[in-house]
Amino acid sequence: MKRIYLDYAATTPADPRVIDEMLPFFTEHFGNPSSVHSFGQETKSAVEAARETVSGLLGAAPDEIVFVSGATEANNTALKGTAFAKRDKGNHIITSAIEHHSVSETVAALKKEGFRITNLPVDRYGMVDPDDVKKAIDEKTILISIMHANNEIGTIQPIAEIGKIARERSITFHTDAVQSLGHIPVNVDDLDVDLLSGSSHKFYGPKGVGFLYVRKGTKLTALLFGGDQEKRRRAGTHNTPGIVGTAAAARIAHESMAEESVREAVLRDRLIKGITGAVQDASLNGHPTMRLPNNANISFHFIEGESILLSLDMEGIAASSGSACTSSTLEPSHVLLAIGLSHEVAHGSIRFSLGRWTTDEDVARVIEVLPGIVSRLRVMSPLFAERTSHGIVQR
Ligand code: PMP
Repeated sequence: MKRIYLDYAATTPADPRVIDEMLPFFTEHFGNPSSVHSFGQETKSAVEAARETVSGLLGAAPDEIVFVSGATEANNTALKGTAFAKRDKGNHIITSAIEHHSVSETVAALKKEGFRITNLPVDRYGMVDPDDVKKAIDEKTILISIMHANNEIGTIQPIAEIGKIARERSITFHTDAVQSLGHIPVNVDDLDVDLLSGSSHKFYGPKGVGFLYVRKGTKLTALLFGGDQEKRRRAGTHNTPGIVGTAAAARIAHESMAEESVREAVLRDRLIKGITGAVQDASLNGHPTMRLPNNANISFHFIEGESILLSLDMEGIAASSGSACTSSTLEPSHVLLAIGLSHEVAHGSIRFSLGRWTTDEDVARVIEVLPGIVSRLRVMSPLFAERTSHGIVQR
């Protein structure tokens, strides 16, 4: 059976071209970039070349890129680093109700440290209203953190507008761009951000490496102390292969983005239309147009997402319910609740995320098997029986 992977938002396979570029840095070029000898200088120049590539693609300067272990660290550094650096200026942080847990749990921890948090609501499409940001700002606001694109429903936020608001008031503005990088253009000046998080394994690079963009002049306390790597903004021996792989992956994603995003959007729309056309009471979550080209999140009313996932898995199809990080809990996704779904409907939601190796045939296969899976599960569903017996749903 051919396996079909539709969980690219959870992680992507590394592109073989990325691996090719990384391999020599495990063996031949293994020196510590902080060493003065030629072994170290060799890897140091590779790290600096990678920094130049990544910064160039973002419209940033090389020394504005701090390599870290992934976006969880980047988000923690951005939030805690700003909070602690600007503590004397204020204690108020604005964020949204649909952030990734690496942001929401960090602000929850900061709340315990005495920071005041405003969690902005979103509309039914998962969109933050820039006016709400404006209204939430007070004289103690030191940081705004709103993600660029949501990992569950794919909604793309009006980051440039929010950036302008933050800039006018000299408030540090952070965006988690993990899901947008490599899929849609990301330029730090166009978005007007001071801090931006990225994770290489989401754009066909290696896992366990990422970066934080830090605009020149942004006050930030380091999370990790030790050596003076990354200009003392992040101590620890550089992950040279990972950093080289990050640059290679970013370059490849950038080169193919225009074409690939159109290709994926066509497949995404075919998938959405195919599913909602063939399955009754299946509704799309997220914004109809301001959404990532590779994301289709659909609620299948009256049944459990977990059961759909298991049935799909038996057909060799991998998708996701909630985000990968939360799918081991039975709590419905905070994102789906924030857009106004009931617990039941939130529980019946599946995220399909497409990627570089998704084909027409893959999408056709999902459209072929899903209606049967949903019907079988609905036959067993008490919720569904209740609805049909009340004549609410006619079949
Ligand atoms: N932010 C978002 C929006 C994500 O989707 C993820 C990964 N699920 C992260 C942050 C965390 O990234 P990492 O896996 O690199 O820690």
